[in-house]
Amino acid sequence: MSCKDVTMHELTIANSLVELASAHAAENGARRVVAISVRMGVLCGIGRSLYFCFEPASRGTLCDGARLHIEEVPLSVRCEHCDETKVPKALYNFRCPDCGYPTPKVVSGREMELTSIELEATEAAASFGAADDAGTQRSAL
Ligand SMILES: [Zn+2]
Repeated sequence: MSCKDVTMHELTIANSLVELASAHAAENGARRVVAISVRMGVLCGIGRSLYFCFEPASRGTLCDGARLHIEEVPLSVRCEHCDETKVPKALYNFRCPDCGYPTPKVVSGREMELTSIELEATEAAASFGAADDAGTQRSAL
């Protein structure tokens, strides 16, 4: 995989984050998006460069100036032999660190999800009426 592919990949993710958050803000009649939180599994291979992709992707949208928070989710696998969830010694070492049994079942580390969108409400939307979606924080006034 070349660097260009990685950048394209992250740019695509940044664009879809911006799209999702902007749509959410528009649905709720918010003035703009203040902050976005995402959970990224280490296996997604998405690093800090997502921060750099996010800014240009958000320009001119409701996400312009929004803070991006990336929570990195560590890798954990299921060992059938120990009947426990384990953390492998290395990223691509899918073996139980204790008994050496192969652990193809990934418990965490592959997720990529939007966990919260913080909106700046307009005066109209600040009154009760805007639906409070799960995982959405209303900005404190
Ligand atoms: Zn084991």
